[in-house]
Amino acid sequence: MLLLALVPLGNMSNITYDITGALMPACSSLRARLRKYFGPGLLALIDASPLLQADLRKLEKLRVPVKRLKNRADAYCLEYTDASPHGEIYIGDAASNCDQALFLAHEAYHILHGTTTSNPNTRQMSRERYVSKCLQEETRALMHEAKVSAQLIDAGYRLPYKHLFYFAAYLRGGYRAIHDLLLLDTSADGRSGFRQLFVSRYEKSRGRRKAS
Ligand SMILES: [Zn+2]
Repeated sequence: MLLLALVPLGNMSNITYDITGALMPACSSLRARLRKYFGPGLLALIDASPLLQADLRKLEKLRVPVKRLKNRADAYCLEYTDASPHGEIYIGDAASNCDQALFLAHEAYHILHGTTTSNPNTRQMSRERYVSKCLQEETRALMHEAKVSAQLIDAGYRLPYKHLFYFAAYLRGGYRAIHDLLLLDTSADGRSGFRQLFVSRYEKSRGRRKAS
């Protein structure tokens, strides 16, 4: 219950009505697309989490599309495209609805609150500073995911063990515990971990700048 005190409750002013007078949740077009791509199970999860509902409203307002990755079970986001200046989110249709809900929470955090770029200006920022900022953002995205997990658990959902990894760290020690765990996690690329992933992203940018 302590966790729920940290998160805002749903806001009644965001509820609208259809022509029959029935209650309709906000962000109907994004909801319709998510239902079409991933089924009603994902919508039920979103409706169980006021934080996810708020994310969806903000994504809709910024016209950030959520797209389907066919036959894939992962997710990612693009910080910017010509068609979508605020970014795009991609979610695999082979993932479970629970995975998809938490992917959505995670990627929505990057899109709505992220400040690190995948193509840093290496002349203006040191490698260590860049890596540290990336790790901070990733930790905060995982914290957001953990807060959504708390709401889903409170609503009666049983989350698979893999989703309890960072959630347990969040309960144990908040930001610091998640950050420490992230440094040990090798799932970013299956081998070397998140720090190395961000180091190589920086070095690629440096290489591109040298070549240009
Ligand atoms: Zn992330």
